[in-house]
Amino acid sequence: MSALLEVDQLAVQLPIGQRLRPVLHDVSFTLARGEVLAVVGESGSGKSMTARAIVRLLPPGAASSGRVTFDGTDVGSATRAQLRELRARRVGMIFQDPRAAINPIHRIGDFLTEALVRDRRMRKAEAHERAVAVLGEVGIDDPGRRLRQHPHELSGGMLQRVMIASVLLAEPDLILADEPTTALDVTTQAEVVAVLGDLRRERAMAMVFITHDLELAAAISDRVAVMYAGYLVETLPAAQALERPIHPYTEALLRSRPELSRRMAAIPQIPGRPLAAHEATGGCPFQPRCSYAIERCAAERPEPVRLGGESVMCHRAQERRAAGSAPVGEGTLVR
Ligand code: SF4
Repeated sequence: MSALLEVDQLAVQLPIGQRLRPVLHDVSFTLARGEVLAVVGESGSGKSMTARAIVRLLPPGAASSGRVTFDGTDVGSATRAQLRELRARRVGMIFQDPRAAINPIHRIGDFLTEALVRDRRMRKAEAHERAVAVLGEVGIDDPGRRLRQHPHELSGGMLQRVMIASVLLAEPDLILADEPTTALDVTTQAEVVAVLGDLRRERAMAMVFITHDLELAAAISDRVAVMYAGYLVETLPAAQALERPIHPYTEALLRSRPELSRRMAAIPQIPGRPLAAHEATGGCPFQPRCSYAIERCAAERPEPVRLGGESVMCHRAQERRAAGSAPVGEGTLVR
């Protein structure tokens, strides 16, 4: 079966100071229909830039290379009309801060029904009926009243549910969810993730879910992609992400999370600081922080290696796979 989304050697540069600097290096992955890929990494690792590049929503002055193909269409050479269709109908976007994405002077009802009336030529009454039904599905009570309210009258959690409702109304093939729960409290986060996961699954929509939380990534996805300094350093099945990741950075991320089931004197930290994508020149971008580094790592950038269903950008990937990389909770990785 052909992939819904193919990202091949995608690279992006942004104007920073007087120069164009890389923010994304040769990112490649595919996504099947109905599949969920979670993209994990620290701030500045290139997660959001990857999502924006998929729909050509890059900042002014950005330069990009590589190829993004959505359902057979080359997004890079798409016309303005094709791009509009792509963003309005085929790919739905959910952002971190719903208040920034919803016009504060319009009622919730106008926000939800505008595209149905304008693009789908739906009658207003029918669009209103659909909006009421979908608001109910995302768990908003008294949806008829909510449609008459303005964004400032709703909590952050309710507004994010409204964003999810707007995406479901468009019935896209792909959802790009960029840290959709980061601005919410923990209880609301769990509720919003559950609603998004259930309704997406019912409609067999594919999703790219961006988060900095590896545990959440593994829980919501089929596969996890780990980014570091603008590189995609590991892609692996979600079930394996919390068990035996191969890339030392993924393993270090796992070790540095707090766990109720483990007694810890202190939460281990990854030494050093994350590199910006433009600082990652020469060898492996994780080399300055990696306890497994060998001489070759500083001199030569590793190419991604395919190991069964995984892709790992590490010189020692084969060796670590053969040794059954240390299960989390054993051994010492972090210096
Ligand atoms: Fe560590 Fe070397 Fe692998 Fe980079 S290539 S992650 S430095 S072992």
